[in-house]
Amino acid sequence: MRIVVKIEKCTGCGQCIDSCPFTAIIMHEGKAFINEYCQFCKTCLNVCPEGAIVEILEDEDLQPSSFSTQLSAYKGVWVFAEQREGVVASVAYELLGVGKRLADELRTELSAILFGADDVQAKELIKWGADRVYHCKDTIFDKFNDEPYAMLLTRIINNYKPEIVLAGATPIGRSFIPRVAASLKTGLTADCTALEIDKDSGNLLQIRPAFGGNIMATILCPNHRPQIATVRPRVMKRGEYIADRNGEIISISADNITSRTKVIETVKEVSECMVNLQEAEVIVAGGRGLGRSEGFKMLEELAEVLGGAVGASRAAVDEGWISYSHQVGQTGKTVCPKIYIACGISGAVQHLVGMQSSDIIIAINKNPEAPIFNIATYGIVGDVYEVVPLLIKKLREIKG
Ligand code: FAD
Repeated sequence: MRIVVKIEKCTGCGQCIDSCPFTAIIMHEGKAFINEYCQFCKTCLNVCPEGAIVEILEDEDLQPSSFSTQLSAYKGVWVFAEQREGVVASVAYELLGVGKRLADELRTELSAILFGADDVQAKELIKWGADRVYHCKDTIFDKFNDEPYAMLLTRIINNYKPEIVLAGATPIGRSFIPRVAASLKTGLTADCTALEIDKDSGNLLQIRPAFGGNIMATILCPNHRPQIATVRPRVMKRGEYIADRNGEIISISADNITSRTKVIETVKEVSECMVNLQEAEVIVAGGRGLGRSEGFKMLEELAEVLGGAVGASRAAVDEGWISYSHQVGQTGKTVCPKIYIACGISGAVQHLVGMQSSDIIIAINKNPEAPIFNIATYGIVGDVYEVVPLLIKKLREIKG
């Protein structure tokens, strides 16, 4: 069941607004609009003198006869481009990379949604592949706050009807995107590691580890639109940057966007390892094969010669040889360095999902059958305690 305003009947008299005990009715462009605070109390139904507010059954607008027509009204791929302190987060550019491929396959357009930040940032999104940017510059979006973010994104999705919406599986995306999906009564697949288009149906195939990472599940949202997915930073590759690429910027108003909460202060957590690991171009990671915590001293040396950071498998973290902030994988960090050196790591799927997008993967393992070799660019079969010191020695010689 849903409460909706029949726009053609609404005169914008505003009587319903006062009647709602949940402040769920707002005025937008001279018409009443019911937002996600609606608790279905039905008080407003008897208040409207025009009978414009009505109760409809769930999915009444998606009856079988009109079902495919309703779905086909949704067009285009959207990427929610989150910003922090006015700078678009790099995950947005990664999502534009995969978004462009999906849009090309569907022969549709790619749009970015930007709340806050300035025109320079909006134009960058075009250079990274967006055909259009829906940009709301209102200062209410300068600092992240769930309610206004969810309200505006829900509203513009309802207005423009994209078929796919992608967002980062970041603290921001994880926080407000589920609200948007719930308001729109559509599905959301979190933490996707791959996204494809089903050739026959055109549905989005949302692929992610499931059941503790033991299987890769392909999740579909065939009966509702938009199809919403979140993707962790560093899982997808950026697309092509074209400096003279042109696109359209559509200014979005924040009229009637309100918030019951106010962000007073943002306190940054200081964690050097976190920054180093996710931004490092070279990562030397150790697993249970190291056998003891001292092994990480050796890996630190190798990382130092290469100007990189140290990562670890969960097994090594569980052994207490290194702190959790170094863990790479499903329940750790997702990384995408130029070079990932896996030392004594078997290559369990839960580890692979956190590092498989690395440009070059070098595996050192004494077991030639270890699954890590299936994805490694270069494999060295041998004992880490023999191979790594040789590497350090040789690299030091080269560096002089
Ligand atoms: P092992 O699988 O024990 O492999 C050790 C490897 O070292 C072997 O291949 C062995 O041949 C090799 N070796 C041994 N001695 C030497 C030597 N001297 N020289 C060279 N090679 C040697 N794991 C993660 O890493 N990250 C995660 O985020 C994560 N999340 C998980 C979430 C869930 C819900 C579950 C169920 C598991 C998760 N795991 C995660 C654990 C994962 O399933 C594996 O258990 C773990 O990745 C194994 O770590 P490993 O490769 O270091 O150890």
